[in-house]
Amino acid sequence: MMNCLVCKTELRKGTTVLTFNMGSNRILVVKDVPALICDQCGEESIDLDVSKNVEKQVEKALSDGISMGFIDYNAAA
Ligand SMILES: [Zn+2]
Repeated sequence: MMNCLVCKTELRKGTTVLTFNMGSNRILVVKDVPALICDQCGEESIDLDVSKNVEKQVEKALSDGISMGFIDYNAAA
């Protein structure tokens, strides 16, 4: 298991919420994103594959004309 880069506490597996604010009232929130979380300082570490996946889902939502709302990370995998 990885340790926190900031405070060296052992990270735990959890999920986080990522908010994408693209301006012009475009806000997308991705829920249930797998992340390693530090209970000590609140630092969150997200896997590169996961963040790529999140990016894809945000791009897809935008191309579908969705400019505001929630995306469930697990729904569109
Ligand atoms: Zn920490």
